[in-house]
Amino acid sequence: MRGARPADRGPDAPHEAAQQCLVRDANETTERLNAERTAVAVRTALRCECGDPTCESHLDATHAEYEAVRAYGSHFIVGLNHENPESAWVLSENARHAVIDVVAGDARYQVRARNPRHAWTDADDWSP
Ligand SMILES: [Zn+2]
Repeated sequence: MRGARPADRGPDAPHEAAQQCLVRDANETTERLNAERTAVAVRTALRCECGDPTCESHLDATHAEYEAVRAYGSHFIVGLNHENPESAWVLSENARHAVIDVVAGDARYQVRARNPRHAWTDADDWSP
């Protein structure tokens, strides 16, 4: 019944956002334990933050790339073509990963409220 609901408030959205938050927390732990926080070293330790609970992809990203994503509570780093077009926009992508902004209302609220680096850092950029 995918067509029977508005795209931005589907039953999948909160679950997906919750999964994204769980993986984000795991990646934060991974990055905290990263002994090599150089800006240019490409590592593969990070998990894909696409929100699909069955996704086990790992990402190639530098510490600098990861930090740029974490600067915003609604931004996530995902594998190429792992974004859900119903809930997120692709902000940028390279050969190794994409950066998405979760824009669907409920999901956006949830992921920003659970931002491990303090909530609402991008409040000024957002007008509903
Ligand atoms: Zn994924």
